[in-house]
Amino acid sequence: MSAKLIDGKAVAAEVNAETAAKIKELASSGIVPGLAVVLVGDNPASQVYVGMKEKKCNELGIFSRKCVLPQDASMDELMTLIDELNADKRIHGILVQSPPPPQIDERKVIESISPEKDVDCFSYTNVGRILTGDLSGFLPCTPYGVQVLLEKYQVDLASGHTVIAGRSNIVGKPLAAMLMQKGKNANATVTVVHSATRNIEKYVADADVLIAAVGVPEFIKGEWIKPGATVIDVGINRINLPDGKRKLVGDVEFEVAAERAGLITPVPGGVGPMTIAMLMRNTLKSCMKHNHLL
Ligand code: NAP
Repeated sequence: MSAKLIDGKAVAAEVNAETAAKIKELASSGIVPGLAVVLVGDNPASQVYVGMKEKKCNELGIFSRKCVLPQDASMDELMTLIDELNADKRIHGILVQSPPPPQIDERKVIESISPEKDVDCFSYTNVGRILTGDLSGFLPCTPYGVQVLLEKYQVDLASGHTVIAGRSNIVGKPLAAMLMQKGKNANATVTVVHSATRNIEKYVADADVLIAAVGVPEFIKGEWIKPGATVIDVGINRINLPDGKRKLVGDVEFEVAAERAGLITPVPGGVGPMTIAMLMRNTLKSCMKHNHLL
């Protein structure tokens, strides 16, 4: 492997240490950030994600409220809970773990969360702010984590071509909006490729910075990567091995890509730990705003 590894675990630990230090400082004034995580139903993967968020809150000194509703919970029940959390002064961030069961209208739920507590940054208001170049509010956690990794490894976005594979509302689209803005750690010239793009390899081969968020195991072939490129793999895919074991792989064919890239994220240990770190940072920011400290 000739590429240097981007150590997401280490950068996330740095971000978390900064968050914890600030929380400690606030505690001396009796201020405690609070995050409510709402889980509807019993999806095992969602339970794991909710547990990870709760654990990180406890580690950093964030008050965490876990609200579990049954699989058959109605929209009314969920909206009543969101109203209660919107009014709860101990809570500065609210998120509803995705995907909810089919009877839940996820967009309606997101829009019912107060934009000041929308720490996932999914609401029209908060996404719209980013698109129009106002970066003073929340930034969506995974794209924010990618941007911080690029900053920490001093990747110059302005001088080359950035290609994002995937146009989802939680990763590809907001990330493209963030990286194309004027300013520090941005100013990128961005191309977004997706399932209707022909000859994706042509775009990938021209990418000085490639960000893969496709959700297809090893979709980006290592030989497509431009020599010396920076490769950020957002993908998290569980695959079955011939011996019956399961393995986590990204959206990039890591072994071959690592021979060509200049910098590359591993999976796991790349973007994954950054997402929760940025959620914690957003919750702290929200608490500071609610207390007129920002
Ligand atoms: P998503 O909502 O399924 O979106 C996938 C995107 O990839 C879509 O835009 C889709 O195109 C495109 N795509 C799918 N198959 C393609 C193909 N064969 N060729 C070209 N484009 C294709 O996924 P997501 O939520 O953005 O997540 C992407 C990956 O990142 C997943 O592996 C997910 O687990 C991972 N993830 C990781 C984190 C983290 O914290 N590290 C956070 C979020 C997501 P269309 O729009 O045309 O359908």
